[in-house]
Amino acid sequence: MFRIGLGHDTHRLGPGNGLVLGGIVIPHERQSLGHSDADVLLHAITDALLGAAALGDIGEMFPDTDSANRGRDSGDMLQRAMQRLTAAGWRLVNLDCVIFAQRPTILPHRPRIRERIAGLLGVDIDAVWLKAKTGEGIGPIGQEEAIAAECVALIEQWPQTTNI
Ligand code: MG
Repeated sequence: MFRIGLGHDTHRLGPGNGLVLGGIVIPHERQSLGHSDADVLLHAITDALLGAAALGDIGEMFPDTDSANRGRDSGDMLQRAMQRLTAAGWRLVNLDCVIFAQRPTILPHRPRIRERIAGLLGVDIDAVWLKAKTGEGIGPIGQEEAIAAECVALIEQWPQTTNI
């Protein structure tokens, strides 16, 4: 059996030194603001996985009212969500993601981001794809007030059972 999940996240941007995105730090003079490390892409992926398996959502697993989640590594959050799926008999087939950011240009960083996400999830790099869109200079994305990300995830029951 296959299931799909959709994840979306938005974070404010503010003055900073380095943008945490997809588990890496991209040199940039603005940073993503939030309770955890504010990695908008990993948050969208985490929600897509949990949604596909109907196993909760990132806010329920890691509430921002819990001080333990302040500054938390989103890679750890993603791996804990994936562990929840694995325990329930699911494995990841593939992810397809979109980042919405006016700047910086994401494309040069795509190989490292894909490698990092694949490593966190224990899948082949070909199972992780990533695209990026600007905000065309308008709205919160285009004016560099916010960054957003979306992800769809396909999962399948594992190990597969054969129905005769
Ligand atoms: Mg978030």
